[in-house]
Amino acid sequence: MSEEHGVSDRGAGDSWDGGPVAALRRIAFLLERGREDTYKVKAFRGAAAALLPMPEEQVEAAVEAGTLTDLPGVGASSARVIEEAVRGRVPERLARLEEEYGGPVTAGGQDLRAALRGDLHSHSDWSDGGSPIEEMAFTAIELGHEYLVLTDHSPRLKVARGLSAERLTRQLGVVDAVNEHLGGAGFTLLKGIEVDILDDGGLDQTDELLARLDVRVASVHSKLKMDADAMTRRMVGAIRNPRMNVLGHCTGRLVTGNRGTRPGSQFDARTVFEACAEHDVAVEINSRPERRDPPTKLLELARDTGCLFSIDSDAHAPGQLDFLGYGCERAEQAGIDPDRIVNTWPKDRLLAWANR
Ligand SMILES: [Zn+2]
Ligand SMILES: [Zn+2]
Repeated sequence: MSEEHGVSDRGAGDSWDGGPVAALRRIAFLLERGREDTYKVKAFRGAAAALLPMPEEQVEAAVEAGTLTDLPGVGASSARVIEEAVRGRVPERLARLEEEYGGPVTAGGQDLRAALRGDLHSHSDWSDGGSPIEEMAFTAIELGHEYLVLTDHSPRLKVARGLSAERLTRQLGVVDAVNEHLGGAGFTLLKGIEVDILDDGGLDQTDELLARLDVRVASVHSKLKMDADAMTRRMVGAIRNPRMNVLGHCTGRLVTGNRGTRPGSQFDARTVFEACAEHDVAVEINSRPERRDPPTKLLELARDTGCLFSIDSDAHAPGQLDFLGYGCERAEQAGIDPDRIVNTWPKDRLLAWANR
């Protein structure tokens, strides 16, 4: 958070010493955070990736020669940003975006946002996210997180390139490598999954593999319109599974956004939340603006049922990691005690709870 305030005071043309890659990354972050179309963001992330391995002198030479757009992945708007940054000025595009999107995402919930230590739900380009694992981790560090749980989808969700047991096993090695590379730094990328809740209440991954993870989010992604009794049995079946830690976006509703809207699933919410409370499963407050899940009435019911909560970004891009503010505002309005929100807990307490 501190970085944002530092940068947002600067206008176009003020001095910039962060270099071109930082400028491109910050622009991409702000566009994602501002919920702009991903194709706009791709250009900047692509240019940042192209420049990252290049020696500084080579970038400067391309600026001088006016040949930046000859570099693969660098288009006209990225080239302008690179040139301004190389010449030591705040790029105009960046200054404009700081003004538009650099402030807090919500007016409320800021004390709670400050109390959050991490995020239990995020996606990388291994499933349907837009960025590599390490970019998600770097951004989480910049946001001040102590931990981020990587929760790519499970095999059955083919549209989201859900991870087979074999790919998930491979991903666990990558997570270890990323943590090793980060060398502590007060941050840990945790191993996780957003596992599909199958029609019969089973979980869409082997128990052996689920056991190797740090945290498991389980969500319904199919047959959202199944009748209420069957849906209740399905959800409670999953909640009783001792591996399950977080019930993701419980109704599945969409209230806005380019995927259109849809009503939430029907189920006996009291029974489902009582099962969560009994089995120590946290009810997710999904921060995505198009989800706002659970709806307020259900959120209050879960509160009154004694449930734990997890305020999650469900980020599919680095900038979306900052969506947490939306969930915090809703949790604060519902008067939820911060100690019942598992991602206010230090990592050790979180891991002890998730692997009890
Ligand atoms: Zn989901
Ligand atoms: Zn998700």
